[in-house]
Amino acid sequence: MMKPDVIVLRFGELTLKGKNRHRFEKTIFDQVVRVMQPFPTVSLSKEYGRVYLRLNGEPYAAIADRLKKVLGLSSFSPAYTAPLDVDSIRTAAVQAVQSAQTAPHTFKVSVRRVNKSFPHDSQEMNQLVGGHVLRAIPGLKVDVSRPDIEVKIELREERALIFSQVVEGAGGFPLGSNGKAMLMLSGGIDSPVAGFLAMRQGVQLEAVHFHSYPYTSERSQQKVKDLLAKLTPYAGDIKLHMVPFTGVQTKIHQAYRDNLLITLLRRAMFRITEKLAEAHNASAIVTGESLGQVASQTLSSMNVIGRAVELPVLQPLICMEKQQIIRIAESIDTFKISILPHEDCCTLFLPPSPSTNPNLRVVEKIERSMDWLDEELNEAVRQTESLWIKAEGEQLFTNFF
Ligand code: ATP
Ligand code: MG
Repeated sequence: MMKPDVIVLRFGELTLKGKNRHRFEKTIFDQVVRVMQPFPTVSLSKEYGRVYLRLNGEPYAAIADRLKKVLGLSSFSPAYTAPLDVDSIRTAAVQAVQSAQTAPHTFKVSVRRVNKSFPHDSQEMNQLVGGHVLRAIPGLKVDVSRPDIEVKIELREERALIFSQVVEGAGGFPLGSNGKAMLMLSGGIDSPVAGFLAMRQGVQLEAVHFHSYPYTSERSQQKVKDLLAKLTPYAGDIKLHMVPFTGVQTKIHQAYRDNLLITLLRRAMFRITEKLAEAHNASAIVTGESLGQVASQTLSSMNVIGRAVELPVLQPLICMEKQQIIRIAESIDTFKISILPHEDCCTLFLPPSPSTNPNLRVVEKIERSMDWLDEELNEAVRQTESLWIKAEGEQLFTNFF
């Protein structure tokens, strides 16, 4: 039984065009190098327009798991290398068919001859290898238009490369290729998913969490760290800003305790996040709102809350159904952490009936009467503790070019 000794990487159309190509590729390479860090003998190379990893004896399955978390990698293929002789190539081709996840009924062979000194041309090789596979695997048929499996053979200068399986990658844009944003991260189901989707769209994130310690526990802070840790395989280290919100909450609650309280508190959270964004060069705010989910997530409420800040507010989940959000949460492994019980800072002084239709003029008037408000928000920013959530086995990125 042969083992794959190479993995062919594909970056998708997006990254192959335009002036950003080089930068995109470099970002993806850096990320591949990062996720390969536990496998130091694996090497990355680029040849004949293809990028691939040489496994040098390291285990394919564990490596494939990590590759699936590299944003911007559209797909990859485990591949076998063989010496440039027909018999070795035939053996590898049979292996490529037999290692398919579900046994194929039909196949075809596609040969690409880079090495023009190889004695057989592509057409002859198709026949030589295809015929052998047919004899070796009873019941298998050739189908050149819609085969269950396509065995690709590349004849290179030194060796041949043989592969068939195509594994779907994370897709999206390379990490950070579309700028940086602050993710408002609670302990719930939605915001980690929103963060993941923004990240997959090429947005680099720093997370902001509001806590009301000592009214909310250390455990709920730990929960947020655990959630963020689930995003690090995709992103590497992520910065987390822990904002003590008790002071702001208490003062606002002393001055106002009616049905606009939640609106006021959420505007305060957005303002603090915007101040942190400015300090850390982020150009947007990402939140986990989903239209209609709770009282503060009506359009009119989001309008009044969003107007507290000037930065764009990205809400990747806005039109998604809960089930869809949960599916993503499961796929990035945050769901089981999110459903653990936790106290949220916003439930601390919950009014009996929060408004679903707040009035901007009224809200602004209340805020004008709180002449201490901005200073209180600045104080929360000053008291904010920032820490790095580290990807396990993390090292400095390596430069490839
Ligand atoms: P989630 O599941 O993300 O908690 P939710 O459905 O509970 O969302 P809300 O509580 O209304 O909705 O919060 C809406 C958004 O506001 C969250 O998705 C998150 O982006 C942000 N948010 C809420 N609470 C906090 C907090 N304590 N710290 C930081 N951001 C928060
Ligand atoms: Mg919540």
